[in-house]
Amino acid sequence: MQLDLPFHTASDFRLKAEAAQSGDFRSKAEPTPSGDVRFTAEATPSGGVDERVEFVRVRGARRYILRVRPDGTLRVTIPRGGSRAEAVAFMHRHLSWVARERARVRRERAPVGWTHGTVILLAGLPEVIQLEARETGLAARYGNRSVRVRTALDVRPEVEDDLRALAKERLVRRLYELAAIHRLQVSRVTIRNQRSRWGSCSRAGAIALNFRLVQMPPAICDYVLIHELMHLKQQNHGRRFWALVEQACPDFRAAERWLRVDGRGLF
Ligand SMILES: [Zn+2]
Repeated sequence: MQLDLPFHTASDFRLKAEAAQSGDFRSKAEPTPSGDVRFTAEATPSGGVDERVEFVRVRGARRYILRVRPDGTLRVTIPRGGSRAEAVAFMHRHLSWVARERARVRRERAPVGWTHGTVILLAGLPEVIQLEARETGLAARYGNRSVRVRTALDVRPEVEDDLRALAKERLVRRLYELAAIHRLQVSRVTIRNQRSRWGSCSRAGAIALNFRLVQMPPAICDYVLIHELMHLKQQNHGRRFWALVEQACPDFRAAERWLRVDGRGLF
């Protein structure tokens, strides 16, 4: 059973105390932006991936807390003895802060543009992107590749399409080579543009690979392929799985480290 207390004043007070500490809620004078964040009376989001709201009851919490997650989800913490209605009211009073936080999170997640002089990795080697005006239009060259581009401002979409095409050739061929070496059967390979994983392997034996693997040093790329191939034998990350990986790729720990430290730079 839920006990609803008149929390209105109390939460305001707590909010002020919190704002003094963190400075998160400083700009109270800022008007609530229209359009970006809209809630109905029931606090259901107005739609769109970035508009989700999640209410979490936390027994140990002593105040209402708003937090915007990296994916844009607004998390509203309801403290012990607090109510959902009060949480909704709290959220409504701070929509401008929520909108600002969401904008900040979105900015941080936005991919960096590529243009003339940008250095990207290709098979582990740095390659400078060079733009050339040709009779047929603008082209971006990197390594021994050349791709038509629409604008000099940001050639990343076209270059990434080209990397994806390259990945289709190289990664698929290499995966089948490694599968043959380890006597494994792959039912299907797809090249994808995943944001949060390098590869996956389904129970049916279908392997999906991130096109960015073509940008990595070949040894790191091989590790990811071997990792997915070993999932054909072990559909988990248990001890037996890692023993198989180590047998096939003794340097896998260094590769894991590369992925953690340098892998994010590919996004
Ligand atoms: Zn795995």
